[in-house]
This record gives sequence, structure tokens and C-alpha cells, in this order.
Amino acid sequence: MIAIGVPAESAEEPRIGLSPETAKKLVKLGAKVRVRSGAGLRSHFSDEEYKVAGADIVVSDADAVKDADIVLTVRRPSPALVKSMKQGAMLIAMLDPYSDAEGLQALAKSGAALFAMELMPRISRAQSMDVLSSQANLAGYKAVVDAAAAFERALPMMMTAAGTVPAARVFVMGVGVAGLQAIATARRLGAIVTATDVRPAVKEQVASLGAKFIAVEDEEFKQAETAAGYAKEMSDEYKKKQAALVADHVKNQDIVITTALIPGRPAPKLISKAMIESMRPGSIIVDLAVERGGNAELAKAGEVVEHNGVRIMGKLNLPGAVPVNASSLYARNLLAFVEPMVDKKTGALAVNWDDELVKGTLIAKDGAIVNAMIAERSGAAVEAKSDADGNAKSAKPKGSAP
Ligand code: NAD
Repeated sequence: MIAIGVPAESAEEPRIGLSPETAKKLVKLGAKVRVRSGAGLRSHFSDEEYKVAGADIVVSDADAVKDADIVLTVRRPSPALVKSMKQGAMLIAMLDPYSDAEGLQALAKSGAALFAMELMPRISRAQSMDVLSSQANLAGYKAVVDAAAAFERALPMMMTAAGTVPAARVFVMGVGVAGLQAIATARRLGAIVTATDVRPAVKEQVASLGAKFIAVEDEEFKQAETAAGYAKEMSDEYKKKQAALVADHVKNQDIVITTALIPGRPAPKLISKAMIESMRPGSIIVDLAVERGGNAELAKAGEVVEHNGVRIMGKLNLPGAVPVNASSLYARNLLAFVEPMVDKKTGALAVNWDDELVKGTLIAKDGAIVNAMIAERSGAAVEAKSDADGNAKSAKPKGSAP
């Protein structure tokens, strides 16, 4: 029988990696599930519901993890907690593998097998385990709802006896998972929606949601999508053309939702200060890329910046602002990943270490970082740190997000 442990998250993280629904399924698989008392409360999952699902409630994080073969969390737990895990046990979480390389090294040294769910290969078999999609979708929704709540006008057109209220104009920049949901949500609220991206594949998806696609559609645009389906960093020439197009468009928008990201690089700067100054007072920008440096020039992580009457919202962890759904979907992503690791007949742990999904997400095992890209980055950080001791150089890893 395997044991699965779920400690509480930090004060800043309302989500949890286990729902009563997934607890029940894990218990049915033959697992012993231990949850720290109160860990699900911010997602409105009570201890009682976990008990009914067959889980045990324990009084401390240490009790939840000490005998566990698998520990499920949302964020990186403290190194102390990881050290208290059973030798060789597995930690499955959103480990934010591109940041705080030294912290990651410390976790790796504990000997735990660390899995970063963000690195799940985006292949059809892994769709049900895709935490980036399940969380980005909710972030896109919440960005629009937050913007609508802060916007001091209505979004839909209303024809009343006292006159017509015009529909608000919403512009979505970056049409990945979050952007698509932002478009759909803004359309449902009755706004006139336009959207832009550098990947041509997006054009049809935007139209199918009832929005208008605008972009610089030159030769470079036709090649902008990588084999993995992501955007490339665009040339300076393309950026100039894009900025001119965006500048002309943004000045007539009421709400701008920015979601543009390039894997492993800082977020592209798409909205300049001058563009913000061209917008009408009362307009809203929600910058979903703020954790990676932001798409809007004045955006600040965790803050609402007001400039000339335009508010630039840089709220962090938007999926955490819809924790019930975010936790339920994230817990299902984890369940889908864990299920094949349990032998159906014996209930014993049976990890196929050669499986593409296991190899893709495993970043550390037996005390060492095993993912080449992360090892290179953390190696760079360790070197920079030793330089910093003598030569006051930055300890930031090469290519890391700001
Ligand atoms: P992302 O979060 O990496 O980026 C968000 C969007 O920003 C992307 O659409 C990107 O093209 C866009 N962008 C980047 N630079 C830009 C710029 N300079 N100007 C304008 N837009 C810019 O993207 P994501 O949401 O993770 O989705 C990336 C891809 O992965 C998409 O093709 C998506 O359909 C695909 N995907 C596949 C699966 C799967 O097969 N399992 C699951 C989810 C997503």
C-alpha cells in the first residue's frame, strides 16, 4: 500500500493539490491518504469531506509527509519539510523550476524525487495532467472579471429609454490558453473584443470566439510558431511594426488584457508608457505576464498602478483567486499523473522511470538535479554565487525570469 501526504500550503497560496474527489479516487486505488488538518479550507474543502472520502486528517505538516511515498503540493514546500520526507519519496508540485535555482538545489539535496508539473510535455496523452492549461484558463477568466469589476462603466451595449450605453472595447494580447478564455469571457459579458498574437494558428480560434484578430501578418509572422506550439522571440523589425499597430489600436480600447509569454524568457514588452498615456482615463490594463516582468511598461507585480487615470493591474496568482475551481482542476491533474504510478493489482508504487511524462517532469532524484536545462541554470547560479562572495556578481541564473 502506498502512502500519499498533503501538507498545508503557505499563507499566500489558497489552492491545494488534493480535493475530496481526488482523495476518494486515490483511496480507491489502495492508497493511504493523509491530509494536514485545515489544509483545504481556503478552497472550501473541509476536514470532514476528506474524512468521508477515506483520508486521515493529521495535525501537522510533518505528520502528513513523514511516511508518504508521494507528497502532493501546489508550491515548493520548505526545505525543512522536504528533508523530513522519507528517503527517496516523491514530491509532485508546481516547483517553479526556472526560479530560485539555489532553493531548488537545496530541495534536490534532500534526496527526494522532485517533479515539476509545469514541465509536463504538451502531448495529447498528457492533456489531463496539463497544470499550465488548467490554471491559465482560470487566470484568463479572472483577469476579465477583475477588469470588469474595476471598470467604472458597463461592458455590454444597453439600449434604454434614457439612451444607449455603448459596448466596452476589450483587447486581448497573447492568445494562448489564458488569452482564449479572456476572449470568451469578455464576449460573454458583451464587450467588443479584438485580439493579437504572433502565431498565425490563433487567427481562426479568435474568429471562432466572435472576436477580431489584428496582427502584423508578414513573412516572420508565418514562421513565429515553434514545433512545440509556442511563440518565438520576434526580431526588432517585427517588434517595431507590431508596436506601431498596437499603438494605433490601444488608444481606442477600454480594457487591455495582456498574456504574452515566451518560454524561458522575460515577457515581451508590448505596451509602452506612451501607449498607456494615449488611453482614456478610466481604462484598465490587466497584465497576466507580470510575474515574468510584464507586458505593460508600468506594471508592478502584486500592485495596481494608476497612471493618468489608467489603472494597470498586476495581481499575482489569479488562479488562486478562484481557488475552488483551481484546486479541483489541479488536483485532477495530479491524480491523472499519479494513477499510472500505482500497480492496480498490488496497490504498490510502480513508477515507470522511462515514461516520457515521468522523464519530462522529473527534475531531481537521489540528491542531484537530473533535468539538463535546470542543472545548467542551477550550475550557473551556484557559480555566480561563489563569484558574488568574492566579486559581488549577481546570483541570478542565466536566462531566468526577472
Ligand atoms: P504561453 O503562455 O506560452 O503564451 C501566451 C501567448 O502569448 C501565446 O499564444 C504566444 O503565442 C503569445 N505571444 C508570445 N509572444 C508574443 C508577442 N510578442 N506578441 C503577441 N503575442 C505573443 O502560451 P500557452 O497558453 O501555454 O499556449 C502555447 C501553445 O501551447 C498554444 O499553441 C496552445 O494551443 C498549446 N497548448 C497545447 C496543449 C496540448 O496539446 N496538450 C495544451 C495547452 C496548450
